[in-house]
Amino acid sequence: GTEGKLQLVQKHIRAFPDFPKKGILFRDICPILKSPAALTAVTDLFEEHVRNHYQQVDLIIGLDARGFLFGPLLAQRLGVGFVLVRKKGKLPGTTVCVAYDLEYGTAEVEIQEDAVAPGQKVLIIDDLLATGGTLYAACELMKKQQAEVLGCMVVIQLKDLNGADRLKPHGVFSLLQY
Ligand code: AMP
Repeated sequence: GTEGKLQLVQKHIRAFPDFPKKGILFRDICPILKSPAALTAVTDLFEEHVRNHYQQVDLIIGLDARGFLFGPLLAQRLGVGFVLVRKKGKLPGTTVCVAYDLEYGTAEVEIQEDAVAPGQKVLIIDDLLATGGTLYAACELMKKQQAEVLGCMVVIQLKDLNGADRLKPHGVFSLLQY
């Protein structure tokens, strides 16, 4: 059942204090990828959520880099395509770009201009929601492409950082909350 799957996923997340710098408790999802059962559980839980909440989904949009690990598996289950949102400079051809603020300076994410058509219904996926800056930038990209964002999905949501507020009116579905 759902509870058993969540417990299995939780058992495969490790916490590393002070990585990549002092004061950050890094949530490491690598053990999930190493366990076929845990990775299947993650995909099952995402798939159940999508099937229970949305009639039609056209595309799964995954964020660089750990959104690429979970997104394609979900997209295959749903029988829909997967699109990459990458850090600037990695995608060939004409791209659409959005800048967002980091703690120090700014970063940019982009997609290929022809990746999403106007009116397409998309779900955006990443491994973890912290401040929400990255997912917000992806939502802005979708807005530029006139896509309809149905919602955001993450394995882990860090509650204290209130990332979900930043993503409103879009909802966030998370498997685990810390
Ligand atoms: P944010 O834009 O602040 O929501 O940060 C989200 C991105 O940073 C995600 O792509 C995560 O992979 C990564 N990230 C932020 N905080 C953590 C953390 N405590 N542990 C692991 N990854 C993190």
